[in-house]
Amino acid sequence: MHLPLKDVGYRFDIIVIGAGPAGSSAAYTLARKGFKVLVVERGRVPGSKEVFGGRVYADPLREIFPDFDESAPIHRWVTKERISLVDGERMTSIEFFRRGKVSFTTYLTELSAWMAKKVEEAGGTVLTEITVDILVVEDGKVTGIQVGDEKVSADVVIDGEGINRLLLERAGLIPKLTPRYTGLGVKEVIKLSKEEINDFFGLEEGEGLAWLFMGDVTGGLPGGAFLYTNKDSVSIGLVVMLEGAVKEAREHVSKYVENLRLHPLLEKYFRNGRIMEYSAHLVPEYVWPTLPHKLYADGLLVVGDAAGLLLNLGYNFRGVDFAAYSGYLAAKAVEEAHSRGGMTAENLAIYEKLLEESFILKQLRKFKNAPKMRENRRLYSLYPALVNEVASQLFHAKFETPKLMEAFGKAKEGKIGWFTLIKDLVEVIRSI
Ligand SMILES: Cc1cc2nc3c(=O)[nH]c(=O)nc-3n(C[C@H](O)[C@H](O)[C@H](O)COP(=O)(O)OP(=O)(O)OC[C@H]3O[C@@H](n4cnc5c(N)ncnc54)[C@H](O)[C@@H]3O)c2cc1C
Repeated sequence: MHLPLKDVGYRFDIIVIGAGPAGSSAAYTLARKGFKVLVVERGRVPGSKEVFGGRVYADPLREIFPDFDESAPIHRWVTKERISLVDGERMTSIEFFRRGKVSFTTYLTELSAWMAKKVEEAGGTVLTEITVDILVVEDGKVTGIQVGDEKVSADVVIDGEGINRLLLERAGLIPKLTPRYTGLGVKEVIKLSKEEINDFFGLEEGEGLAWLFMGDVTGGLPGGAFLYTNKDSVSIGLVVMLEGAVKEAREHVSKYVENLRLHPLLEKYFRNGRIMEYSAHLVPEYVWPTLPHKLYADGLLVVGDAAGLLLNLGYNFRGVDFAAYSGYLAAKAVEEAHSRGGMTAENLAIYEKLLEESFILKQLRKFKNAPKMRENRRLYSLYPALVNEVASQLFHAKFETPKLMEAFGKAKEGKIGWFTLIKDLVEVIRSI
């Protein structure tokens, strides 16, 4: 709801900055436990400032929100996973089909609005159109937030402000983000009818497709492209490393998503579609492992993208569920610190222990080499071309069909040596 701060009062047990998945999950968990919680969100409605592709893994959300399956805004359950290597007008794909409710497509605007409603139902207060200017720090302890010349105080502030982390930077708590460790995501949502989507992508009622692309669709920049089917629209876009995008982009990055939409292999799907939305946003590709910052301080916890807790393996992208679960763990840490007598850094340190024990840091550690591996340019140009060349020889034999190794040898001739190829292969296998 939109109300002036003075109408809700200037003192809370907990203030949460940002009504994204991280902030709202923390707020909901604490409001259910009877804490007096305030969420402040700068957007007109929760989720209005967020950008994401379209697929979320469900299990972490089920644990946080007990009625998730009954009431969350799920567009389609992803039953079909497809990964395609693209090179010009050639594309080699692998596809996996499964039934079940593992991951789903949605609009983040709808998911965030649903989560914020849950916070309110649990007794928390959610205020929109309020931008926090600074964290109030007194004697080294975060004691609240400042909005214009108004201050609101709390025992603890949970910062879920997302990737920009301006408040943490302004408070001198973390260094500036560097492009090397940041991704840039751009996306379009294209309106199609439900029937068209089912027809084009071979889906039945309620089924969804997650389609990921590697190759020259990103204009040679390290990264990948995606297509997710929503209820009656399709989200397409790409996530590339910001450093490359800044240094090498030959055209505005929005052009890349347009190129994807107009790609000769994909254009047929969107010919009759209407573009509903274009958006761009940063992604913390490799932030958490590289920053020597703590995710807690006296009176402060940092959650979600602001803490760099996101995993992008190319074939699976986990931002929302990681963010939400980190918010949930932050709430558990607050409960624990409360029972130990207060929100000191010492008591809140339990948050990092909870993260360590959870899938979040286990996964980020397990795949710590993946971001570096994904910087290898050959993955985006040479290898997709090689795979497509082999496929082309195998499937387009005129008189003689070559053996697989024969086709492979011919495809790689003069392009790459065995040593580099095996080295790259070992690196990929070790990283993911
Ligand atoms: C193009 C793209 C595609 C993506 N695709 C996927 C995907 O398919 N699946 C997936 O799981 N993840 C995806 N992600 C990542 C995912 O969107 C994020 O990881 C997730 O939204 C992080 O949640 P959060 O709550 O930490 O931050 P956010 O969702 O960014 O929320 C932060 C909130 O804080 C508010 N805020 C910021 N500063 C202030 C302030 N000073 N005062 C008040 N409010 C403030 C913002 O308005 C915002 O609502 C994608 C991201 C991009 C950019």
